[in-house]
Amino acid sequence: YHCKKSRSAFARFDPQLDEHSLNNLTLMTDAKQALENKQFCLHYQTQIDSDTGAVSGLEALIRWQHPTQGFISPDDFIPSLELSGDINALSCWVLEQALTDYEQLKPHLSKPLALSINISALNLLEERFLTSVEAIMLRFPARPTLVMEITENALMSDPEYACTMMQALVKRGVEFSIDDYGTGYSSLSYLSRLPVSELKIDRSFIFDMETDLRHFTIVQSTVQLAKSLDLRTVGEGCETAISSSILKDLNCDKQQGYFFSRPVSMEELISHFQSMDGSDDTSLSLELMSD
Ligand code: C2E
Ligand code: MG
Ligand code: MG
Ligand code: MG
Repeated sequence: YHCKKSRSAFARFDPQLDEHSLNNLTLMTDAKQALENKQFCLHYQTQIDSDTGAVSGLEALIRWQHPTQGFISPDDFIPSLELSGDINALSCWVLEQALTDYEQLKPHLSKPLALSINISALNLLEERFLTSVEAIMLRFPARPTLVMEITENALMSDPEYACTMMQALVKRGVEFSIDDYGTGYSSLSYLSRLPVSELKIDRSFIFDMETDLRHFTIVQSTVQLAKSLDLRTVGEGCETAISSSILKDLNCDKQQGYFFSRPVSMEELISHFQSMDGSDDTSLSLELMSD
């Protein structure tokens, strides 16, 4: 009986595990090849200045259309590129592509926009990231203000080394932003000792702050504390007119979310700015802009 039981447990459980790790392995190999074969592209989501309502920045978000599996979320393949040791190559590709895309957009802008990219914590633990970034930046002398978004927990594996790397990048004109702020364990007093310019308040607090008083209070006090530490704030995941006006009332500097625009391709972005014809109006409607 004992034997039979464990066999059936084995039969039920193990093949599933195998399939899972096989999937991961395939994904890893595919992601590496996707990088080599240029199967990735970047979409861009606008960031809006709360005071003026004008677009003041763009966040580049990577997209992978897998040849057989369809769209794969970056949340699923970024970790496998971190594991396989290809995250330096990926982040450098993103930086270079974003700067190339921006050159295309620039003639259609009435004023420059900040450009944000997401990087991995592992990037800040490797000296070669700094050298690669320097080399890329040299090729784009007329580049926009560059912001690197990083999640707070990511900074915790070797904070001192990461901080030194951040300082070196800041010297070269890069700004840092703490992404998904509020979901990790780090205190703001700790984070404010790092060369950080911006906090992006996680969308889990933004999306229901109009009904959840605790979340409202968290957003309110985060904005106040950030302000007193000279940090810019961005409310991410802003999906409704109400949350947008709350963010404005709370003096959150910037807003980003589906209420303004979903992430869109550079072509869509360009045609939007073309149709704006130099105007500062930002009514990026959802009908126009879908992911
Ligand atoms: P993130 O940097 O926090 O990006 C925000 C995510 O929320 C994006 O998902 C975006 O499409 C989505 N989003 C934006 N506005 C709204 C909204 O109003 N409501 C809701 N529900 N969602 C919204 P996405 O593009 O799937 O990216 C997921 C995560 O993958 C990103 O989170 C980022 O951590 C990572 N990622 C994306 N692109 C890159 C990249 O180029 N490199 C690295 N290392 N990570 C990336
Ligand atoms: Mg981000
Ligand atoms: Mg985020
Ligand atoms: Mg995120």
